Amino acid sequence: MANNSIFLTPGPSELYFTVGDHIQKALQDKIPSISHRSLYYQDIHKFAVEQVKQLLNVPDDYHLVFTNSATEIWERLIQNCVEQETYHFVNGSFSTRFYEFAGLLNKKANKTEAEFGYGFDMSKVEIPDSAEMICFTQNETSSGVQTPKEDIYSIRAKHPEAIIAVDAVSAVPFLDIDFKMIDSLFFSVQKGMGLPAGLGVWIFNDKCIKKAETLSQKGLSIGTYHSIPSLLKNGVKNMTPATPNVLGIYVLAKVAEDMNRKGINVIRKETIYKSSLMYSILDQHPDFELLVEEKSHRSNTVIVAKVVNGSSSNIIKYLSEKGLNIGAGYSKYKNNQIRIANFPTHSKETFLQLGDLIKEYKFKEGA
Ligand SMILES: *Cc1c(COP(=O)(O)O)cnc(C)c1O
Repeated sequence: MANNSIFLTPGPSELYFTVGDHIQKALQDKIPSISHRSLYYQDIHKFAVEQVKQLLNVPDDYHLVFTNSATEIWERLIQNCVEQETYHFVNGSFSTRFYEFAGLLNKKANKTEAEFGYGFDMSKVEIPDSAEMICFTQNETSSGVQTPKEDIYSIRAKHPEAIIAVDAVSAVPFLDIDFKMIDSLFFSVQKGMGLPAGLGVWIFNDKCIKKAETLSQKGLSIGTYHSIPSLLKNGVKNMTPATPNVLGIYVLAKVAEDMNRKGINVIRKETIYKSSLMYSILDQHPDFELLVEEKSHRSNTVIVAKVVNGSSSNIIKYLSEKGLNIGAGYSKYKNNQIRIANFPTHSKETFLQLGDLIKEYKFKEGA
């Protein structure tokens, strides 16, 4: 693997192109050594919250707190927002794990399940009124299937009492969602934000807080240091319950600021340009087939194709020798699918180069 190669893997992925400079500045300013109970830290924390809220257009009355990962937030949501019953839209490895967490935490977990590579037909879904939280994985990173936001809104309209929780890990910042139609959204930073891993961002509204308080008053456990009340009690002071990933929060603030300067609409337009280009090249190539048949379910940020002649390892190796690292299929699809990340740090030029290399590639010769 060449040192100057570009990572188009769906997470971790290529770092946002300004990250190196921000880390260097942070080290110069000794950011990792400052106390997380100091004014310096509080300023960084406050700035990160402001910049991320601006980037994603989060309403003022929604709260934003930091955790260690998105996986952690699956657990925290179930602990804080569910007494007995959850409902999950399951269509790949990440949504499956979210669903399994509910069972592991002794909740009754219901689901509707779609085959790998497929989305959901909302007209056929029946969610019991007893479901306290309805969970979506808006962009299923394992299969490249996205759930249109209008579909999420339609479920919200039918179940106004339930907490609507959205895993948007590989969709942020591209996803342009109306927060008023959902109650919680979360992500970790090593995908679309292009940061080193080890930081989760959890956004939620007062409905989630009320639920956590109700469960707590009933004497139920809502966890320990990272419960909603504990995160908020510290959050209002621009602090965290435990020593946080200060460097990660600092760099997140800076990258979100860079993206805000560039303009989220420009980022979204570029993302659509690059995904259209790549889907069209893969669709026309005799050795590939798009995994997701339904156009409206095709992810803009994680592009997945089946390899119909040969093994994915050949094309992955060929591209990596040219300096471009794409992802293999997820888990059992490792050898017969490829996944290409399309995040803000991936330039149009990189996509044009990748597209040309894929067009030229013939499996019989390469195999
Ligand atoms: C990567 C990913 C996660 C897990 O993120 P961590 O930072 O590893 O906890 C959860 N959901 C989705 C959709 C993902 O792509």
